[in-house]
Amino acid sequence: AHLDRIAAVDGAVHAYLHVSAEDALATARDVDARRAAGEELHPLAGVPIAVKDVVVTKGMPSTAGSKILEGWIPPYDATLVEKIRAAGLPILGKTNMDEFAMGSSTEHSAFGDTHNPWDLDRIPGGSGGGSAAAVAAFEAPLAIGTDTGGSIRQPGAVTGTVGVKPTYGGVSRYGLIAMASSLDQAGPVTRTVLDSALLHELIGGHDPRDSTSIPEPLPPLVEAARQGAQGDLTGLKVGVVTQLQGEGYQPGVLARFQESLDLLTKAGAEIVEVSCPSFDSALAAYYLIMPSEASSNLAKFDGMRFGLRVEPTEGPVTAERVMAATRGAGFGDEVKRRVILGTYALSAGYYDAYYGSAQKVRTLIQRDFDAAFAQVDVLVSPTAPTTAFPLGEKLDDPLAMYLNDVATIPANLAGVPGISVPNGLSDDGLPVGFQILAPAKADDRLYRVGAALE
Ligand code: GLN
Repeated sequence: AHLDRIAAVDGAVHAYLHVSAEDALATARDVDARRAAGEELHPLAGVPIAVKDVVVTKGMPSTAGSKILEGWIPPYDATLVEKIRAAGLPILGKTNMDEFAMGSSTEHSAFGDTHNPWDLDRIPGGSGGGSAAAVAAFEAPLAIGTDTGGSIRQPGAVTGTVGVKPTYGGVSRYGLIAMASSLDQAGPVTRTVLDSALLHELIGGHDPRDSTSIPEPLPPLVEAARQGAQGDLTGLKVGVVTQLQGEGYQPGVLARFQESLDLLTKAGAEIVEVSCPSFDSALAAYYLIMPSEASSNLAKFDGMRFGLRVEPTEGPVTAERVMAATRGAGFGDEVKRRVILGTYALSAGYYDAYYGSAQKVRTLIQRDFDAAFAQVDVLVSPTAPTTAFPLGEKLDDPLAMYLNDVATIPANLAGVPGISVPNGLSDDGLPVGFQILAPAKADDRLYRVGAALE
């Protein structure tokens, strides 16, 4: 049914870069046979899933939205893909994204735009716009995204889906094509909070192949979602972040946010306002730290080891000149912009002023979270300041594009988990997201509060 749906609507939505119909059907048949034989299977066995193209899948293209990886077929599976396959979830295909996960609209994909199913002239968010659009358009019931600065949560918000960024280290990064290694996390994109909890429990947990993986079991997420669905939040303290509201936020977004706060109060939660002053500098710090790490991670695309190789048109064929020709042709504008920014911020003489200062701001943000979570159980805010904007509107204005991430970035800088749950429609008829943030390793709280709002 999902393959039929993809055939019917993906021409207009363009959520997928690659559809693996045969692979998916083979898994589905295998699961049917095992179930018929009485085998005890995972609760999600047979439920199809779409995977963001930045996650490597053995034998299936994995481009990260870049021309430089076009034609590359990975020889191995990411840990989370191994887990998905072992549990019997048919993989429907790979979803569109901003090149190397750099963007908030999926317009930086080298393979064309994805359209928001709510209004095909608008962006589906980014960088994981393909995963969110696939779930919103019923082209997949579940999807995997990655979130470095909001790329699961912001697409979730603008497409009316649930998106979760787990605690840093909660889901293995082995097999993710890295953008900024200290910020990247993979997580679920689904239509309900319970679906996300089931998927999160499946893909999460310790992995010795990722040195930053937390060597402890996850808290009970499905149980927390089931408990939250009872709608009783008596005793829970909720902090509204002063810095993540007001100027720059669309009135309809703020109105829906306020209505959800009222629902939380009715469910027995106590709402207080909490100030996190360093959050005002989060965006600036992120756009130094992320390009710095990305410029280093992208150095492996040298025209020798993966995908594209372009020979220089004239002069001697040296390694350096092949590298320059390959990168010149293979990387898009946004990737080049960030590599230039990152190498500049890391260069001798500027390192302390830019990268060093940004790291200090990162520490201050972590301290703001620590102080806030000493007072409250969860923090909340709108997920994104506006609803989906028209395709093309911010493409020539990088700063305007970066401002979309203002509410999602603090969580990545501190490593804490966050969820975006659907929060109704704004005055323009487009979906709004409600963001819940919890302390590191307390991802269960996201599911308890998120399910209570559903
Ligand atoms: N929009 C942010 C950026 O462009 C976040 C990207 C992400 O989370 N992958 O960096």
